[in-house]
Amino acid sequence: MSLIQHLINGQLVNDTGRTADVYNPSTGQVIHQVPLASRDTIQSAIDSAKAAFPAWRITPPAKRAQVMFRFKQLLEQNEARISQLISEEHGKTLEDAAGELKRGIENVEYACSAPEILKGEYSRNVGPNIDAWSDFQPLGVVAGITPFNFPAMVPLWMYPLAIVCGNCFILKPSERDPSSTLLIAQLLQEAGLPKGVLSVVHGDKGAVDALIEAPEVKALSFVGSTPIAEYIYSEATKRGKRVQALGGAKNHAVLMPDADLDNAVSALMGAAYGSCGERCMAISVAVCVGDQVADALIAKLVPQVKALKIGAGTSCGLDMGPLVTGQARDKVSGYIEDGVASGAELVVDGRGLSIAGHEDGFFLGGSLFDRVTPEMRIYKEEIFGPVLCVVRVNSLEAAMQLINDHEYGNGTCIFTRDGEAARLFCDEIEVGMVGVNVPLPVPVAYHSFGGWKRSLFGDLHAYGPDGVRFYTRRKAITQRWPQRASHEASQFAFPSL
Ligand code: NAD
Repeated sequence: MSLIQHLINGQLVNDTGRTADVYNPSTGQVIHQVPLASRDTIQSAIDSAKAAFPAWRITPPAKRAQVMFRFKQLLEQNEARISQLISEEHGKTLEDAAGELKRGIENVEYACSAPEILKGEYSRNVGPNIDAWSDFQPLGVVAGITPFNFPAMVPLWMYPLAIVCGNCFILKPSERDPSSTLLIAQLLQEAGLPKGVLSVVHGDKGAVDALIEAPEVKALSFVGSTPIAEYIYSEATKRGKRVQALGGAKNHAVLMPDADLDNAVSALMGAAYGSCGERCMAISVAVCVGDQVADALIAKLVPQVKALKIGAGTSCGLDMGPLVTGQARDKVSGYIEDGVASGAELVVDGRGLSIAGHEDGFFLGGSLFDRVTPEMRIYKEEIFGPVLCVVRVNSLEAAMQLINDHEYGNGTCIFTRDGEAARLFCDEIEVGMVGVNVPLPVPVAYHSFGGWKRSLFGDLHAYGPDGVRFYTRRKAITQRWPQRASHEASQFAFPSL
């Protein structure tokens, strides 16, 4: 069993302090120890970032982008190795891991356009011989804290963009599946990134608190559960930092009576059960408009949920792997128990699944509840497992009211053939990311990602144009070059044209 290392100032660093176990969820065995950084370790990463910043901030954006072009190539060349590491520690299937990596690479491609995205804005002749422009300058040392469920993609939402904008970045990945995240950071180093521009420090609350409290850290990007997002947002903004903290979710799909049901069912199966439901954009509630749609949906879903192909994530051709930890599996089982006790109809029960040869793995089959109502815990809370709840309503308006009343507002989707209904839904729904016949509307890298309500704390969404704004600060410059022969008298009134 190996001890995972930190990456600080371009070097892999051993840490002899506290550690945590990293599991292979398919076998239930501990496969690594991960160090939990002390304040001193965090400070050494901050010091290296601070030392690297003056040279990196004046490195031309095109040079910074060249590192990203090489990084993209290395990521593509190492796809199989990275996917294997993701799957071994997270449990998701190899195909799903490769998909997450590809969506992460999109963000590296966006970062390759650094000279274009940092061009700023220019106005000539705003006054006599006066020109004005806005410059977007880096913040300095910035940090990111990421969740277990996308160990490759979510860090790639953050640091490629932060770095091409001229910042130095400290990443604190999830302590549950850190190996792929570390390997990816090493590839960026290999692509020619100067030492200190990116550091990876592993850890838990102690490491996060050290980053929040460090005055040198100017901004924090967080992705994870809502209670931690809220904690980080309030603690870090109190200290004057810029924060974007993306939290949990409960994503509803609305099925209209005119929907193409077969296609909607296929889409729902992937969106609800893919990655074992451990996605912040997973559809966890299907809202059926009318009993006829609900009955037809349940009839089509039941055999498909029962037939899900489940096994060790690293085997080929599967639909679903295990949950990330035994604790996560037990938590999801607890929700299923709670749903039954509160009167929901459990039409498929995924508990008690045993996979031959992997009896100690953290497996659960797919579960499906019908007749779920809004006061139930399984409706209100994020389950983060392979459980889909069906809620029955009588109209689109009632479906929208239900979604708008929910505390989360990350993603949602409507299945319909009716353009008018789709348009109303897009206009009025209080959710940050909306799909029309698209179950997982995760924006491409040149748009930005973020939820509403208690799914995001902060003003700017992640990556894309909002990411550029988040990792830069605007400087407005007004410049005058008077003609040599002219002399202007002092002007005591406020300058105007
Ligand atoms: P988590 O909140 O437990 O952990 C996220 C990060 O916070 C980790 O790096 C962890 O080490 C750190 N952390 C944990 N406890 C902490 C504490 N008390 N103080 C400070 N830091 C702490 O989340 P998770 O279980 O890793 O990930 C799943 C959650 O993330 C789900 O709620 C999911 O919806 C959410 N998520 C949201 C998005 C989004 O874009 N909105 C994307 C992915 C995941």
